[in-house]
Amino acid sequence: MSDLFKGYKGRALHVLKNFNVRVWSEAKIKTTRGDFQGIVLPRSETDDDRHIVLKLSTGYNIGIAVDTIQDMQEYGYKEAHYKIPEREFPTSPDKRNVKMLGTGGTIASRLDYRTGAVIPAFSPGELYGAVPELADICNLSTEKLFAVFSENMGPTQYKVLAQAIGEEIKKGTDGIIIGHGTDTMHHTASAISFMVQNPPIPIVMVGSQRSSDRPSSDAALNLIHATTTAAESDIAEVMVCMFGPTSDEYGLLHRGTRVRKMHSSYRSTFRTIGDIPLAMVNREKITPLRQDYNRRRNDRNVTIVPVFEERVSLLYYYPNMHPDIIEAMIDLDYKGIVIAGTGLGHVNKPLYPAIKRAVEKGIVVYMTVQTLWGYVHMFVYDTGRDLMSLGIIPTENMLPEVAYIKLGWALGQTSNLDEVKEIMLTPICDEITEREPYNGYLIYQGGIPEVEEFIKQFHK
Ligand code: ASP
Repeated sequence: MSDLFKGYKGRALHVLKNFNVRVWSEAKIKTTRGDFQGIVLPRSETDDDRHIVLKLSTGYNIGIAVDTIQDMQEYGYKEAHYKIPEREFPTSPDKRNVKMLGTGGTIASRLDYRTGAVIPAFSPGELYGAVPELADICNLSTEKLFAVFSENMGPTQYKVLAQAIGEEIKKGTDGIIIGHGTDTMHHTASAISFMVQNPPIPIVMVGSQRSSDRPSSDAALNLIHATTTAAESDIAEVMVCMFGPTSDEYGLLHRGTRVRKMHSSYRSTFRTIGDIPLAMVNREKITPLRQDYNRRRNDRNVTIVPVFEERVSLLYYYPNMHPDIIEAMIDLDYKGIVIAGTGLGHVNKPLYPAIKRAVEKGIVVYMTVQTLWGYVHMFVYDTGRDLMSLGIIPTENMLPEVAYIKLGWALGQTSNLDEVKEIMLTPICDEITEREPYNGYLIYQGGIPEVEEFIKQFHK
């Protein structure tokens, strides 16, 4: 079979040949379901042979059932080479040394036309080949720790990552970037915030919502911003660096324990919750939005605490939740439960006996709020008081995922429940704050221009 039809067989191949259309043709396709226009991609090995895969100009791939095709016309041909040329990263003694630790995710991905899927692929030379501006910012070296999508990150990976960060700090690196999938970046950011105590340099997590083969990819800009931050910033904390507003005006630096992915597909998906972000970053400069951060130091002192008790769960309460879920956790020997409760921190009455039994068995139960913004207040309603008398401990304004990670980390250090409580309720890196700024709910979250534009339509 000719290379032009590689991957296509059976009916799909027949249809392509019939209309004189090739793989990599730019084609107009008329179907019983409407007209489409795009590039015919090689077919995935795992797809059936009754569909043609078309890449639309938006970057999305769609499958077109061959039985619906009425006409196809080639109007161009655009063979793509998705192998990024590897180039050796230039170094200069005047630039700071930054290390990028790769864990996977879209930022380290390209489209694999063999399977049709976005696959994690991370190579230092590829990175430089793709974003040459990085060489103007620092001397970058890279190490691939994992190549996974972030749903596959967990305690084992957090510990390896924390240890790798510790080693880099000892070696004298000036800043660290962690390439990571965005889906669970906020879990890893809080795990690293707890496991890497008092770092002397910036530790910047970065990802991208859209893979680099898509025109709207945020990969390059996020990388440039994160590299600038790791090299230049005097903020020696664990941060997430991602798109700020929906345009590419600036990136935001979010503190690792106050950040959350808030949109499944927007590039400006990360938001600081219950606070305002640490800083804005663009190609030229880093603009702090506050002053209460740990400054860069020259010493190499850092404490790595890579521990995690895995029998901890995060329970998202929903109306009519049945107690059997908690009963199951008791029987399965769980050590801790974080509940994301409704409103100020509530669950329904039928759960009370199970919670009581859990606490009596020595399982620690902590309460957070589903609203994300605001504090747990368990003195306001009877429900809260009842739950506290059962032994549930409120966690102020710690985000549910952060409380889950912190509880795993606390129980990894001690099984003395008073000590666990002390660790849980003593703020380490702003996972609990004294107050939430009155304007933090809206301000500097990157969406303001859009909000104003929307409001102006109604309020002239
Ligand atoms: N599913 C991907 C991940 O979290 C999404 C991304 O990287 O943005 O690994």
